[in-house]
Amino acid sequence: MFRFKTIKDYHNNLQSGQTTVVEAVRFFVETATSGASLNAWLNIYEDEALATAKKLDEHIATGEPLLPLHGVVVGLKDVIAYKYHPLSAASKMLENFHSIFDATVVEKLQQAGAVILGRQNCDEFAMGSNNENSAYGPVKNGIDPTRVPGGSSGGSAVGVQMNHCMISLGSDTGGSVRQPADFCGIVGLKPSYGRISRYGLTSYASSFDQIGIFAKSVGDAAVVLEIIAGPDAFDSTVSQLPVPAYSAVVHEPTPKKRIAYFKEALEHPSLDPEIRAAIYTSIDNLQKAGYTVDAVSFDMLDLVVPTYYVLTTAEASSNLSRYDGVKFGHRSNDNKDLTALYKNARSEGFGKEVKRRIMLGTFVLSAGYFDAYFTKAQQIRKLLVDGAAQLFKNYDAIILPTVPSPAFLIGDNTKDSVAMFLADIYTVYANLVGIPAISIPLYKHSNGLPFGLQVMCAPYEEVTLLQLSTAIQKSYE
Ligand code: GLN
Repeated sequence: MFRFKTIKDYHNNLQSGQTTVVEAVRFFVETATSGASLNAWLNIYEDEALATAKKLDEHIATGEPLLPLHGVVVGLKDVIAYKYHPLSAASKMLENFHSIFDATVVEKLQQAGAVILGRQNCDEFAMGSNNENSAYGPVKNGIDPTRVPGGSSGGSAVGVQMNHCMISLGSDTGGSVRQPADFCGIVGLKPSYGRISRYGLTSYASSFDQIGIFAKSVGDAAVVLEIIAGPDAFDSTVSQLPVPAYSAVVHEPTPKKRIAYFKEALEHPSLDPEIRAAIYTSIDNLQKAGYTVDAVSFDMLDLVVPTYYVLTTAEASSNLSRYDGVKFGHRSNDNKDLTALYKNARSEGFGKEVKRRIMLGTFVLSAGYFDAYFTKAQQIRKLLVDGAAQLFKNYDAIILPTVPSPAFLIGDNTKDSVAMFLADIYTVYANLVGIPAISIPLYKHSNGLPFGLQVMCAPYEEVTLLQLSTAIQKSYE
C-alpha cells in the first residue's frame, strides 16, 4: 500500500518505479473521502488531480529529472485563489464565487509539479482559533473528533494530520498556521512577513497576513518554502531578497546557538502546567546540548493580544468593505433602496464573528477613538518591533509555547470571545513584529493530545529557523 514519509522518500520511490503519482493521488483521495466526517475539505478535485498525476507520470517515463515538487499532493485553504475554482473564505458572502486567476503560490506550486487536491475548510475570512466560524460547519480534530483542530486553518491542518494530502497551504495572521499545527501534532511554518507573495490570498489584515505551510516534517516545509517564496511583481510588500536553498541546507547543523525565552510567557497563569514543564525540560536539554538558553524579560506580553486585535480588526474593517453586494459578494433579493442593498448584503452574507470584528475595527478607527486605540496600538507595535531588533542582536532565536493549552472541546469556547482571543498570546507576537515562526510537534499531554514548541528567528532568518527546528526535532526522535 502507498505510504508517505517525506517528499524526498516519495521522490526516491517515484524514480525507482516503486510508486506512481497516480497511485499517490488515488491514496489521498481515498483517505480524504473516507475521512469526510471531519469536514476538512470543501471540494476534492479528483478528476483534475488524476489528470495532472498522469501527465507527471508520463514525464517520469521519459527519463527527465523530477521537478522539485513532482507529484506532491497539496491542499489549499479556502482563502487562496485557484483559477476557475470556488473561493469562498468559508463565508456565505462568497458562496458560488469562482476565482478567475491563480494566486502566485498556486502558480509556483503547479510549475514545480505539485498536484492540487482540493479546497480546505477554515474559519470565515480566517477569523478564529477553532474552525467553528465556518459557514460550512466546524472541522473536527482527527485525533479526537469531539475537539477542535484549531483555526483558522483547521481543515488544512487536519488534511496533513490525517494523511489526506502531503502538504497544505494555510494563512497565518495571528497564529492560524502554528496554532492548528500545535493542536493536530504536525509542523506549521509562518515565514517572515514579505517572504511569500500574498497575491491571490483573501485579505484579512494585510500588514499581518502571511501564507504558511503545514507539513509532517520540517524538511518538507523547507522544500515547499523554497518554491513558493520570493519576489513577485503582483505584491509590492514582498521582499526582494533572494531565496536561499532551504531544502539543501535544512539538515545542516546551525552554528547559531543563542536562544532566548520570555520568562513572563512561561510563568503566565493561562499556561497549562504540563506545557510549562515540557518547555522547561526542552530548555534543559538544549543547554545540555551546548546551546545558550537565557530567560529574557518581556514586560509587554499582556499588550500583544489587545494590540493585535485593535490593528487587525481595523485593517479587516477596511479590507472587507469591498463585500457590499455590488463590487463583490452576496446580494439579497429584497432591496427597497441602495442603502438596504448594502445593509442586507452584509447582514445576510457575513457570520457573527466577522461582523463583530468589522464593528470593532470601525470603532477603533472612528474619529473620536482613533488616537486612543488605533494610534496607541501602532505605537506599541513599533516598540515591539524595536524590542525584537534589540533582542536579535544578542540571540539567534526565541522559544515559546505555541498555545497555552491543548485542543479544547468543540463548543467550549464559543461563548467567550475574549477568552478565545487571549489564547492567541504566544502566536500574535511574530505577526506583530513580522518575524518567521514555526510550531514543531514535540510533546504529548497526559490527556493524549499533542502540543508543540514554537521557535522564532529574526526577519528573513528562515535558514536558522529551519536548521534549529530540525536539530530540535531530531533530538526528540
Ligand atoms: N486566532 C487569530 C484570530 O482569530 C488568528 C487568525 C489568523 O491567523 N488568521 O485572529
